[in-house]
Amino acid sequence: MRIVRSAFTLLLAAPLALSAQHALPFADTSQAPTEPKAPHSFDLHAIDKTADPCVDFYQFACGNWRKDNPIPSDQSSWGRFHELSERNRYLLYLDLKRAADSPKTPLQHKYGDFFAACMDTDLADKLGDKPVQPLFARIDAIKDKKDIAAVAGYLDSSTPTGIFFRFGIEQDQKDSTKQIEAVHQGGLTLPDRDYYLQDDEHMQSIRAKYHDYIVTVLKLTGESEDQAKSDADHILEIETALAKGATPRRDLRNPEQRYHIMTFAELDQLEPSFEWSAYFSGVNAPKVSDLNVGQPTFFKTENQVIADQSLDALKAYLKFHALNGVAAWLSQPYADASFDFFQKTLQGQAEQTARWKRCTAATDRALGEAVGQDWVKENFPPQAKQNMEQLVAALKTALGQDIQTLPWMSDDTKKQAEEKLAEFRQKIGYPDKWRDYSKFEVTRTNFVEDLDHSAAFQFDYDLNKVGKPVDEKEWGMTPPTVNAYYNPPMNDINFPAGILQPPFYDFSKDPAVNFGGIGVVIGHEMTHGFDDQGSKYDGHGNVRPWWTDADRSAFQKRLDCEIDEYSSFQPVPGVNVDGKLTLGENTADNGGIRIAWQALLATLAQQGKSINDKIDGYSEAQRYFISFAQVWCENRTEQASRVAAKTDPHSPGMFRANGTVRNFDEFGKAFGCHVGQPMMPENACRVW
Ligand SMILES: [Zn+2]
Repeated sequence: MRIVRSAFTLLLAAPLALSAQHALPFADTSQAPTEPKAPHSFDLHAIDKTADPCVDFYQFACGNWRKDNPIPSDQSSWGRFHELSERNRYLLYLDLKRAADSPKTPLQHKYGDFFAACMDTDLADKLGDKPVQPLFARIDAIKDKKDIAAVAGYLDSSTPTGIFFRFGIEQDQKDSTKQIEAVHQGGLTLPDRDYYLQDDEHMQSIRAKYHDYIVTVLKLTGESEDQAKSDADHILEIETALAKGATPRRDLRNPEQRYHIMTFAELDQLEPSFEWSAYFSGVNAPKVSDLNVGQPTFFKTENQVIADQSLDALKAYLKFHALNGVAAWLSQPYADASFDFFQKTLQGQAEQTARWKRCTAATDRALGEAVGQDWVKENFPPQAKQNMEQLVAALKTALGQDIQTLPWMSDDTKKQAEEKLAEFRQKIGYPDKWRDYSKFEVTRTNFVEDLDHSAAFQFDYDLNKVGKPVDEKEWGMTPPTVNAYYNPPMNDINFPAGILQPPFYDFSKDPAVNFGGIGVVIGHEMTHGFDDQGSKYDGHGNVRPWWTDADRSAFQKRLDCEIDEYSSFQPVPGVNVDGKLTLGENTADNGGIRIAWQALLATLAQQGKSINDKIDGYSEAQRYFISFAQVWCENRTEQASRVAAKTDPHSPGMFRANGTVRNFDEFGKAFGCHVGQPMMPENACRVW
C-alpha cells in the first residue's frame, strides 16, 4: 500500500469514486461506450407518493427511483453517486481515447499511452503471466527468512503489491508540521479481519471460495493441484494469524490506536524476525531517528507468524500477493478468476465491467492530475468555484452559530471549538498547482510494467515528503471524483470538481434544492472536524485534548445515543449497521443537515423568500429534505450490503436519509408528522 491516510474521512466509501479496486479487464467489443444521461437534481418522478413521509421518508423520496433503477449487471450497487460517477467517467474516457489516438501535448502522450496499453487485451493475453515472472524469480531466490524483508521492500516500493503491513508517510499526529515514516497493520486480502475470524455460515463459505480462488490462480502459474492446495492452506493460515493480531476497524477511529512513536531499534526489538534495516534500505527510506508504529501488537503477531511459518509457506504468501495485486490485468484466465471471486462472490456483481470503464478508472488512479487538467477545462466552469466559495462561507457561519447555541457545551470548550472552526481551510475543484509526472515512465507494450512504474512513482513521491514542510495544497482525490473529504491533520475540507454538479449542485434550481444537496455535503465535511475522531484534533491538526472533561463526557453521552440508534438498523435481515464504525459519518450527516438548514434560512431571508414558498407543490422546507434524501437513492446487492456492513464507515443510503431526518424536528414540522411516528421519535439523538 502506498499512502497511509488512516484519518481521512470521506463523504462515501472510496470504491464509489472512480478508483474502484480490483477493476478487471475484459475483451468486450460489444460493450461500446455510450453517453450516460446527465443526472438532474430534485427528481419529482423519483417520489413514491403512496408512501407516508412520516413513516418511511426514504421510500417516499426514493421509492420510484429505486423501482426504476435496478442495479446494472456490471455493478454491485447503483445510486445517484454512481449515475454521476459514470457520466464523469465517460467524459474522462473521451479525453483518454482522443489522447491515445492523437495526442497533442506531452501529458496527453503519457496518459494516452497508459490508457492504450490498458485497453490492449491481445497484448495481455499474449503476455500471460510473464509480467509477474521477474517477481516470482526474486521470491524463488529467497534462501533464508532473513532475506524476506529486502524482497518485501522491493514489492512495496516498485509494484502494486501489498504484503504483511502498510508502510507510508504521514503527518505526525502530535506535530502536524512534521512528515514522518509510519507502518500500520495490513497484509490481508479479504475485506476485513472478521472475514477470517467469524465462524458463521456466510463467512465460512466466503473463506472456502477464497481458498478455491487461490488454488485456481496458483494452478494457472503451473503449480500442481496438490501444491496449489497446500499453498492455499498456508496462505489462509498466515492471513488468519495476521487478522487475529489486527485491531478491529471500529477501534482504529481512535487516533491513540494508530500512534506509537518508536525508534528503529525499538521496532527491531518488537519484531526481530523481520530484518527491518534491510526493508528500509530496500525501499530507500531516509534515515531518521524514529517512526510511527501504528499498532505494536500487530507487529508482535507478525513476528510470531514469520517465526512459526516455514520459509516455503512465507514464499507462497509473497508469490500469491504479487500475483493477486495485478491478476485483474493479466491474461483472460487470471482476469476471470479475479472477477469471479472479488466481484461476483464477494460483491454479487453479475457481469464483468466493460474494459473501457476499468481502464478509465485505472488511468485516473495513476495519472489523475494529468488527465484532470484537461477534464476540468472542459467540465468545470470557473463560476462554479466562486459559487461554492459563497456556499462554504454560509455554512461556516451557520456552524459557528450552531456551536454558540449548544445547550450542553461550556463556554470554554465553545471558544476552543470556534478557534478550530476559524482555522478550517478549504479546497474546491482542483489543485492550484498540478503534480509533475515527468519522472513517471509509461510504455504501450506492457501494462503491468506501467502499473509497477505508477506504484514506484507514487512511492517516491511520498517518500520525498519526509522531513519537508507539509504541502497544504496537495489533494487526496482526483478532479473528476464524485466524493469529498475532511482531513483532520490538515484541518481542511475538500470538494473535487466531480461532485459540484447535479444532483448535488445545480444553480438553475432554488436554494432549498442546493442546500439539501451540496449544502449538506459541505456541512457534513465540516462536522467531521467535530465528530468522534475529528474532535480529538485541534485547529492545527494536532491530537490534543481541548475539551473540558465535563463537556467531553456530555459529548460522549450524545454519541452513545447515535451508536445505539444506528446499531439497530439492518440493511440485510440479521446484519446490523455497526454503530461504532459508522459513528463519525452518522454524526457528520446529522450535523450537516442542521447547519445547511440554518444556512438555507439565512439565504432565504437575504433573498426576501420564505421556507413556506411552494414550487411544484412542495414547500422550500419539503424540497430541502427531499433533495437531501434523493442524493442517497440507491440499490445494492445483498453481498455488497454485507461487505459494506463490515468495512464501510458510512451507513447505507436508506439510513443516511431516515436516520438523519428522524433526529431533526424541522423535518417532522415540514411534513406535518407527529411525535411518536417513525420519522419523529420521542427520543431523538442530537450531537451538533
Ligand atoms: Zn464523511
